[in-house]
Amino acid sequence: MEGFIMGRPGRRDKYNVRSERQFVMNKKSHKKKQKRRNRNDGRNKENIIEADVATKQNGDAKEPQIEQDKPKQDLCYEIKHSDVMGRYLVATRDIKAGEVIIEAPAVVVGPCSGCGLICLGCYRELDETSLTKCVGCKWPLCSSSCQGLGKYTGHSTYECETLKSVTPDYSNIEDLKDSYQALAPLRCLLLKKEDPDKWAALSAMEAHNDIRRARGDIWPMNDRNVVQRLKKWDLEYDEEEIHTVCGILEVNAFEVGVSGANARALYDEAYLLAHDCTPSTTHTDAEGRPARPLTVRASIPHRAGDIISLCYAYTLQGTLKRREHLRLSKFFECSCLRCADPTELGTAASAFRCPRCGARVLPADPLRAPAPWRCARCPYEMAAAAVLLLLQRLTDEYEQIDANDVAGFESFLTKYRNVLHDSHYLFLSAKHSLSQLYGKVSDFMIHEMSEEQLNRKVEICRDLMKVFDVIEPGYSRLRGITLYELHAPLMVLTTRDFERKAITKENLRNRLKEIVSYLSESALILGFEPRHSPEGLMAGAARHALSKIKTWEHIIGKIS
Ligand SMILES: [Zn+2]
Ligand SMILES: [Zn+2]
Ligand SMILES: [Zn+2]
Ligand SMILES: [Zn+2]
Repeated sequence: MEGFIMGRPGRRDKYNVRSERQFVMNKKSHKKKQKRRNRNDGRNKENIIEADVATKQNGDAKEPQIEQDKPKQDLCYEIKHSDVMGRYLVATRDIKAGEVIIEAPAVVVGPCSGCGLICLGCYRELDETSLTKCVGCKWPLCSSSCQGLGKYTGHSTYECETLKSVTPDYSNIEDLKDSYQALAPLRCLLLKKEDPDKWAALSAMEAHNDIRRARGDIWPMNDRNVVQRLKKWDLEYDEEEIHTVCGILEVNAFEVGVSGANARALYDEAYLLAHDCTPSTTHTDAEGRPARPLTVRASIPHRAGDIISLCYAYTLQGTLKRREHLRLSKFFECSCLRCADPTELGTAASAFRCPRCGARVLPADPLRAPAPWRCARCPYEMAAAAVLLLLQRLTDEYEQIDANDVAGFESFLTKYRNVLHDSHYLFLSAKHSLSQLYGKVSDFMIHEMSEEQLNRKVEICRDLMKVFDVIEPGYSRLRGITLYELHAPLMVLTTRDFERKAITKENLRNRLKEIVSYLSESALILGFEPRHSPEGLMAGAARHALSKIKTWEHIIGKIS
């Protein structure tokens, strides 16, 4: 949808308020990490070699287009319109969980705003001491054989041609990085001449110029970083048009790519998905495929007539934070069921603990930020401003914990157990990190963990699943990953019990059955992800574990 009672795109499903930049599953992290890294300016610029974009030039127009050729009767949705929601997508028939709803090629792909020094072809972060310069335009590349050379989803021949007159200043790396902010808008603008069909698709997207202009922060920023930059480069574009493509990107772009790639992309159709803080779909982009398609899949079953939704905020944040993010960067006030419910659909994901009686303290009116927060049992009340301060202080402290610090997360959970409710999103975030750390970092390798530690991992995963089943139900990555994490300690505990003969055959069979059910669902969910992504690899590991469990059948008979 494009109105702003519900929502509009951006990036979707960060797992965590901070574990973005953490270890195993950390897709789509970057910003903060980069800020740190970007300080390493001014080192020597040796090893800069030149690549030849001309050798790759045949690609631009010839990339296979997916979807276009598919018969339209395949579509399981239609576009609807309402004054409140703008355009949005509705299921025209029942859709099964896991079914592909949209598979769309990218209209445009470009660097994220605020990215570091990255390859113009593949968006990989570059070390300024060993980057390659494009032989045509001298802009930075990862190598002369970057797979994004000559492709419209990377460094196209027409972009190279345009940037030939804009020599990058390698003596001022900070400024060079800043100039990346103008590249995605430039790529949009170039389509007008280079690919009118894509330009038309892009032009149909909402830019919210009025709201953005009235806000007074984004407009001047884009003026400085994009409009003035393009002027300085002597590229003749209408100012209003530049602001419009900036808006289209801000409102509609998806963050794409894994592991350190810093790209955003626009997709036809997918941009029409309505926002909901409890999304009904998941999506994934295929970095390696031509046209870099985005696949949107139903995570839960849809009935004909159901709105098909996506979450443009982080599901693992509380209502205050999600709504703030949606207001600031997506320009609408979310009033979805989760946002409107003080308990966030029973999860209590924002609840504090009452200092007097220990019951939940919840917002009296979550859609009205100045409303006080009240204890569910006694007359205790907190002013909204006090809640914000407390939350800020706790978030700051939480952010200080090192991403791999098991003891740090555990002590955060202990320290604030009388302040935050068990399923407060900061606790969920800590637990989400712990669910991935236990079993994988030194001192906590899975086969060396004590029974107590293994049971702790099980407990954490079960706590998370209770909430994920509600906020990201069905075939969501969060559930797929956590189910995998849950199987591991259960398997080790079961094996140990079996080896010391502390388990009956019947009990063994039941426990293996449970493990098989977690693994099967995990393999199914994560099997939708690109094979070489962290999730795709986890799916492979889950399938492998399943086949190993099958070997137990000669001892106990058929498991499932
Ligand atoms: Zn590259
Ligand atoms: Zn070039
Ligand atoms: Zn919401
Ligand atoms: Zn109370």
